[in-house]
Amino acid sequence: MDRPELGIETQLVHGDRSAAAGAGVTPPIYQTSSFAFGDAESMAQAARTPTFERFYTRYGNPNHGAVERILASIEGGEAAMVSASGMGAIASTAIALTSAGDHVIAQRVIYDGTRALLSDILGRYGVAVTFVPQDDVTAFAAAMRPNTRLIMLESPSNPLLGVTDVAAVAGIAHEGGALVSIDSTIATPVNTRPLDFGADIVLHSATKYLGGHSDLIAGAVISSRELIARIWDVHHILGASLGPFEAWLLLRGLRTLEMRVERHNANALAVARAMESHPRVVRVYYPGLESHPGHAIAARQMRGFGGLVSIEIDGSFDDARRVIDRLQLFNSAASLGGVESLVAQPAAMWPGSSNAENAREMGIIPSLLRLSIGVERPQDLIADLQHALEGA
Ligand SMILES: *Cc1c(COP(=O)(O)O)cnc(C)c1O
Repeated sequence: MDRPELGIETQLVHGDRSAAAGAGVTPPIYQTSSFAFGDAESMAQAARTPTFERFYTRYGNPNHGAVERILASIEGGEAAMVSASGMGAIASTAIALTSAGDHVIAQRVIYDGTRALLSDILGRYGVAVTFVPQDDVTAFAAAMRPNTRLIMLESPSNPLLGVTDVAAVAGIAHEGGALVSIDSTIATPVNTRPLDFGADIVLHSATKYLGGHSDLIAGAVISSRELIARIWDVHHILGASLGPFEAWLLLRGLRTLEMRVERHNANALAVARAMESHPRVVRVYYPGLESHPGHAIAARQMRGFGGLVSIEIDGSFDDARRVIDRLQLFNSAASLGGVESLVAQPAAMWPGSSNAENAREMGIIPSLLRLSIGVERPQDLIADLQHALEGA
């Protein structure tokens, strides 16, 4: 369906529909590995077509197609591809777009799986990588080489919610003949559409806000038809294909994406403001606050500022730990982006993932707590945090 005049809320509900009489109001789950053909010639023809929604599920599946049409539409891309995880989408993209002898530039503060993929795995296959600070546009320009093929961004980043100026970096990349990918997991297409700012490829861990209910692992990539075809060529060989049931669950989650993200945005801003004036909190990291170093760029390229808030407690690593243990509504758990609020202590989760010099930039601050703000009533979340902070 190509009706760009429809609002994102409407596209999420109707973007995959063909409205056939007698069909279910919700789509069936195509829980099958393979699809039957009427005769030998139609099977031979299908094996030659570039899109495989009804051939073999590692290649594609109608449940994939439904999610892909919606994601392409709401991100403003020509095409999309779903994957068995965010890392499946990220790895397939980086592997498809680089060869031995190529150079990649990436943000220093980036999802740790992406960092490991670039430095530990692609490095073994002759791809060089330079990591730069995400808020320093001149560092991206200085890192460009004649063989730079790809710049990998993530905005906002985790856990300090650093913001990257997508339009500025895209200008530098395109001048040098490189492509720009951006992990937009934390922003979601409700809050920003990076393709509008010049990015070539948008990546998501659909495990987080797109699914939204902490009940599936999935990933997605959105781009031009040509780039999605190149990425799919690698992805279906690597085999990180999404199960039909996960695709169906993801579609179900997507229906309410807009209203969930609006609530995450409002709740997170309320929590961030309440924490900013709390005496036990030294600093609040939230791109919606005027005090955040990335606020001006975020205000330009985002409609809302997302559901992640990090707070630095006035105290030690152990004091922050005691706050976690006193929280009653926030579950202590990895991941983010679900309807329920979660808390994590980055210094405990990634103790060895960076050197001392960059630890603060990476968010490895002993008393830092990362809050994934859910869709509960904001007063309840704030009261829970206040109670935990005051007693710890
Ligand atoms: C979780 C996450 C990933 C990895 O996604 P998986 O679905 O766990 O593979 C990548 N990037 C960001 C920003 C994430 O939060």
